[in-house]
Parts: sequence; C-alpha cells; structure tokens
Amino acid sequence: MCLVAAVAGCGGSAGGGAVPSTARAGASAATDRGGPRPPAVPAVAAAPAVPAVLPGPARAEEETSGEAVARRAEAARAALETARRWGLARLPLPAPQPPAGRPELRAAQGVKLADGLPPVVYRVPTEQPIVFLTVDDGAEKDPEFSRMAAELGIPLSTFVADYLARSDYGYFRRLAEQGDAVNNHTINHRNLKVLDYATQRDEICRQQDQLEGQIGSRPRLFRPPYGEYNEDTLRAAGSCGIEAVPLWNEEAFPDRMEYRYEDQRLHPGDIILTHFRGTDLWPGTMPDLLRKVVDEVTAQGFALARLDDYL
Ligand SMILES: [Zn+2]
Repeated sequence: MCLVAAVAGCGGSAGGGAVPSTARAGASAATDRGGPRPPAVPAVAAAPAVPAVLPGPARAEEETSGEAVARRAEAARAALETARRWGLARLPLPAPQPPAGRPELRAAQGVKLADGLPPVVYRVPTEQPIVFLTVDDGAEKDPEFSRMAAELGIPLSTFVADYLARSDYGYFRRLAEQGDAVNNHTINHRNLKVLDYATQRDEICRQQDQLEGQIGSRPRLFRPPYGEYNEDTLRAAGSCGIEAVPLWNEEAFPDRMEYRYEDQRLHPGDIILTHFRGTDLWPGTMPDLLRKVVDEVTAQGFALARLDDYL
C-alpha cells in the first residue's frame, strides 16, 4: 500500500511510468485533502539551527526539491484516485526502468534456444519482480480496456490474428500509438503444427506484411495460435523478421488466473496470456479482466512491464 507513503513521494523515482497523464490532469491541489488538519506547531524562540534565508544556490536547490516533493505527492494522489476509479484494490506497483538494450537471451528455465532460429520463451530471465501481460487474437475491441490500461500505465503486448482484427485495425493502431505493442498471431489462427512449411510461412509472413501496412511497424515478436509450433514454424517466422516467440506460463480470465506451476503463483519474468474477448464468451468485461490481473499481480508483489522491452 502506498497511501501514507504517497505524501512523502511514494515510488517517486521509478521513471514516472506509474502516473498516467490523464490522472495528472485530473489532480487537484494537495491542500484539498479535507478532514481535520493537525494543530499548528507553535514557533519556538530558541536559536534557529539554519539562517532564515539560505544563500543563493542552496536556497534554489531547497525550493526545487520542495516543489519536487509536492509534485510527487500530487502525482501519487492522482494515481491512487485513478486506481480507485477503475476499482483496483490497491495502486499497481511501478515497473522499473527497462534495460537500455534488450538483454541477450541465455539458456535458462523457460527459454528454448536453437541455432539460427528465434528463441521460444515462456519466462523472461530476470531477477526483478516483473511479469508481462500479453493479449491475443483481437475479436473484442473494447475502448474502455485500452483507456484503462493507458490511465493505469499498464503496458500491453498484443498478438493479433488478421481474420479477427481486420474489421477494425484502427483499434490496434490506437493501442500502438499509446505505446502498446502489436505483434503477429498469423492470418487465420490455424494450428500451424499440422501445416507444411510453405503454408505456415504464408500464415506468418503475410501477417507481418499486413501489420506493417496497418500499424506502421513490422513486428519482432510472434506467437503461434494455441502455442502449437514445430521447427518449420520457427524457421518460417525467422525468415520474415521475427526475433522471438513468447509463449506463456499463466492464463488470465475476468474471474480467475490459471497457473502452470504447482506453486500456483507468479515468478519473475513470467508471461501472462489473456484474450480480446467480450461477455459473449466471458463472465465479465475486458476492464473486469484487467482489474483481476492487476490486483493479482500487485498482491503478489509484482509490477507489469513491457514484454517488447525485454525480448
Ligand atoms: Zn490465439
């Protein structure tokens, strides 16, 4: 919980990622707190430890840091207000600064490396308490979901299949514009494992071209439908610019999380799968889903980071 710490600038130096701009815009002055104020402390006549007016440079520094503390306190209060507005149980933890360059993948649990092929990754090797949210397919294009993610500063990596997305690529373009990644999930969402190389290549590489045209950048990440792939899949994906193939360890629904491992909890670097799905298939909305994920992730002491910064 950050409520008390917020006044002292909770999470203040974490790169600013935790505080959405819309929240900042809606912030009210720090003096609007309401409730009783503490009694004023009477002035003590004893000799002051510091002169009343600080010399130039030190004084400027003092003012700056005072402003910075007030700004941080206001930003933290606004973030808390945003979290409450979206019904979160607590403030999401801020993600650490991403690495300057993408770290080179080494053989580790959750990483499958093969010479000349894009690596398959179930869990990103990291010691940091971060996990990644990935959203697949593209049927439900809920503007409340993208707005909620933006306001809460939750980064998404999406994997989009053309046959579902093509009715409104504008939705995914707007996600890309707010900093979320739009990645490849094939044209027709077929089980690639049963297809020959040429057909697999067509499914993957044609979607590379389609996304480059529709979104404006060529994806680096690809996820095979159903997580089903073989060596041909990786070779085909590598041939049209795919650099990594992230799969997942957890799957999220509006009412629950399903864990692959027996300990039934998150681990650093875990990748969470969910889908663009509506109430026709789910017992809740996409904002319900995001609320469930963020609350679960926060309760376990993790922050949601951007997968595309690490792979
Ligand atoms: Zn899928």
